[in-house]
Amino acid sequence: MLNQDLLKRRTQSVPRGVATIAPVFVAKAKNSEIWDVEGKRYIDFAGGIAVLNTGHSHPKIIDAVSKQLQNYNHTAFQVIGYESYITLAEKLNQLAPTGENNKTIFFSTGAEALENSIKIARAATKRSAIIAFTGGFHGRTMMTLAMTGKIVPYKSGFGPFPAEVYHIPFPNKLHNVAEEDSFKALESLFKTDVEPSRVAAIVIEPIQGEGGFYIAPFNFLKQLRDLCTHYGILLIADEVQSGIARTGKMFAIEHSKVKPDLITVAKSLAGGFPLSAVVGKSKIMDQVEPGGLGGTYAGNPLACVAGLTVLDIIQEEKLLERAQIIGKKMTDFLNNMAQSNQFNCIGEVRGLGAMVAFELVKDRMHNEPDSDLTKALVSQALKNNLIILSCGTYGNVIRLLMPLTIQDELLVEGLETIKSSLEQVFNVKN
Ligand code: PMP
Repeated sequence: MLNQDLLKRRTQSVPRGVATIAPVFVAKAKNSEIWDVEGKRYIDFAGGIAVLNTGHSHPKIIDAVSKQLQNYNHTAFQVIGYESYITLAEKLNQLAPTGENNKTIFFSTGAEALENSIKIARAATKRSAIIAFTGGFHGRTMMTLAMTGKIVPYKSGFGPFPAEVYHIPFPNKLHNVAEEDSFKALESLFKTDVEPSRVAAIVIEPIQGEGGFYIAPFNFLKQLRDLCTHYGILLIADEVQSGIARTGKMFAIEHSKVKPDLITVAKSLAGGFPLSAVVGKSKIMDQVEPGGLGGTYAGNPLACVAGLTVLDIIQEEKLLERAQIIGKKMTDFLNNMAQSNQFNCIGEVRGLGAMVAFELVKDRMHNEPDSDLTKALVSQALKNNLIILSCGTYGNVIRLLMPLTIQDELLVEGLETIKSSLEQVFNVKN
């Protein structure tokens, strides 16, 4: 089978709206490597968009899911329950840093978790308004699009969106938004558009994912927490991309010591099986009447056993420590590259644990985003057998999301490929 033939069939049978970065098709994947249908091998620094912190097809996950398959693979939790759902909920309740007793409910996608966190917040506070941040990404359903803070390509042409969602600027020093600017915008919002007593929740990614791997300043999160507590507003941490060991903690918000009321998780929670969750303070989670929450596939048994195995693997393979080690290797390598005169196009290198990214700019002095160079690097890397992803409001950020289980040699090989690929596209350009 040829990639080209599949691409032709894909173009004829699948709408353009679902874009794919790599014009090749997978035959097999193992840990941090992917082989396409023509036998070409790639190093995977995308991890299925932050889903594979435990790598492709981890043998323990495959084993646990295969065993589960022999017994049952669907009942609908609303019809008849199963232990794996409860055990995984118990474990997440222990891990979630809200500072109180927690409860957990499972869904299938990140967007579904976000949707439900809003339903829970509204039911618990009896308020309607939601505040989110510019540059944030929360999903592709209508409510989560309303909360997403970027028009092209996510929102354009799809409105109107549900009402009562407001945005304030995400603090971003690099792009000239100070923490005070965000708070001033919030004050102004409270004066002009919505009184704080009508606000159910403020939703924030502790590290913006699609938005560009911008880290919310810890002090900002603390002040936001205080403000929420003052007005009785719930603080929701969207950890769909930043959670489950990526940053060297189970949840990125732990770095700030801030205690959110609700947390949304998905992606790496179940190593590639569709599973998401809302974890939060019991007194809030229990405000919804029976029947108000759920979903036919929500908390699928295969995904729940995969989730339990992911938590075991994180512990057994010390992936929290590993995230720190990998993160340091990446930032050292990228900073070295940035410091050599050759790569004046590398702007800021940043990260928490292994959630690392770098900016590509026209020149470092002026920090002007270079989205063309970013696109060129992604496709050149692919030609050189490396899968990387871009992100960012300005489309000029390369984010690195390799499995935390990646072998050292492959990590180095991947980083060297970024360097050689950038050499190729940067030289062509200049
Ligand atoms: N929240 C965040 C922070 C995300 O990064 C994403 C996905 N990129 C989502 C929500 C939506 O998740 P899903 O695509 O599984 O619906």
